[in-house]
Amino acid sequence: MKALHKECKWYVVCPMKRFYEHGKLNRKWVDRYCYGDWQNCRRYEMEEKGEFHPDSMLPDGSIDETLG
Ligand code: SF4
Repeated sequence: MKALHKECKWYVVCPMKRFYEHGKLNRKWVDRYCYGDWQNCRRYEMEEKGEFHPDSMLPDGSIDETLG
C-alpha cells in the first residue's frame, strides 16, 4: 500500500514527535506508526474525528503517565 510509506500528516504537530525528539519516547512507536502504519494509530483516528485525547496517549491507545 502506497500510503504506508508516507509519513503521517499529523507528525509535525503531534506530541509524539516532541517526546521522541526529547528522548522520552521509544523510537519503535515512531517507526511503527508515524513513519509506517499511521492508519492504525489511535491518535490519528481520534484527531480525524476531532475527539479529545491526552498527550500521554500512545498510538495504540494506551496511556503512558510519564509523558506530558
Ligand atoms: S502518533 Fe499517530 S497521529 Fe501522531 S504522528 Fe504518529 S501516527 Fe500520526
